[in-house]
Amino acid sequence: MTTHPGRCYDICQSRTISGENNVSGRPHPAVSPGVYANMKVLVKNKFTRGGLAVLLALALLPLSGCKPAEAEIIITAMDTVMVLTAYGDAAGAALESARAEILRLEALLSATDPDSDIGRINADPTAKTPVDDSTMELLLEAVSLSEASGGAVDMTVYPLVGAYGFPSGEYILPSDTELAALLELVGCEMVVLDGEAGTVSLELDGMAIDLGAFAKGYASDRCAEIVSGLGVTSALLMLGGNVKAVGSKPEGSPWRVAVKDPLGGTGYVGVIEVSDLAVVTSGSYERYFDVETDGELRRIHHIIDPYTGRPAEGGLVSVTVVSADGLLADAYSTALFVMGLEEASEFWRVTRNFEAVFVAEDGEVYITEGLEGSYFPSDTYPEYALITTQ
Ligand code: FAD
Ligand code: MG
Repeated sequence: MTTHPGRCYDICQSRTISGENNVSGRPHPAVSPGVYANMKVLVKNKFTRGGLAVLLALALLPLSGCKPAEAEIIITAMDTVMVLTAYGDAAGAALESARAEILRLEALLSATDPDSDIGRINADPTAKTPVDDSTMELLLEAVSLSEASGGAVDMTVYPLVGAYGFPSGEYILPSDTELAALLELVGCEMVVLDGEAGTVSLELDGMAIDLGAFAKGYASDRCAEIVSGLGVTSALLMLGGNVKAVGSKPEGSPWRVAVKDPLGGTGYVGVIEVSDLAVVTSGSYERYFDVETDGELRRIHHIIDPYTGRPAEGGLVSVTVVSADGLLADAYSTALFVMGLEEASEFWRVTRNFEAVFVAEDGEVYITEGLEGSYFPSDTYPEYALITTQ
């Protein structure tokens, strides 16, 4: 069995433990042989961009009265479409500053840009690479969130993500042997962050990091800080599937953010009303390709279980996290997807620093009880089950 002896489990003392030496309740790596045998890639490049497709923000304008000045900026960055809207006299200038920050962070954090901080780290992993303060801040927080999640979200999965061809779009199925070898390169305890020197190194050649599960959440928090600092009290910042609400709508009612139907419908699952909160969705429908084995279709999606090296098989199709902390919401939406419903519910009971909406493969919807009163189901998904603290 492949193990990750250095992994930290911040909350392991209080989490449900099932299985041998297994904090997460998920099976530990041991790559089961033959799972991908006889498979062939059937549908290539089945890939929807995050952007507007992920969450439909129902930012309804005031129906009457004087409408405050509104500004809107649409940016394509971090491989997604971002729509930033703000109200009030400072709106235009504030959104320009937010745009500049997003582009600055993209230039630092993109794993596919060889000149970015992350690109330079990955090009020579064991060297001590100097990085910008923002990169260091995000890496420190990403490691801490990885540890808190028991390793379910882990920036070092990039070699595995690459092995399936997600960054290039040239999809392939790695062999069991290849996956087993790559799993040895995964584990954020092997990321060495020297805050004083401002350098980053990775312990093993072949390791690589990817902030795809963290960077948009971090950027949304930075943008919210920037626009608030410039006097904006009402804004909705949609960075692909990462939405950050600043204040409430101009007339004072909460922003309404809809969770997209992850099972292929054109509608939505429900609406969440929020003020000053982030709403972030991760879903298997975002990036995937299909393979056929013995006449059966199987979806290979982009959220990888760092324990198995395979696309997470927790029985979920989307997870939406609501929290004041956009970075935490981004990281945990991925982590909870990996954990699956049961473990994710237990994680919520222990941490209680977020709320969540889960959509399972069978179409069942589950919400944590803190969302009661602010979650409104759609006609397509009228029923939902409540996850309680008991
Ligand atoms: P999330 O669930 O938030 O994150 C999933 C993504 O994180 C996966 O796509 C994978 O990259 C990674 N991941 C998978 N499993 C895990 C795990 N268990 N723990 C941690 N991370 C995991 N895509 C391109 O194709 N080309 C680009 O040039 C490109 N540039 C980018 C630049 C930046 C700065 C950022 C932030 C993203 C960029 N991306 C690019 C997209 C990126 O590779 C991810 O696919 C994307 O961020 C997915 O976000 P999500 O919110 O849909 O999913
Ligand atoms: Mg995420």
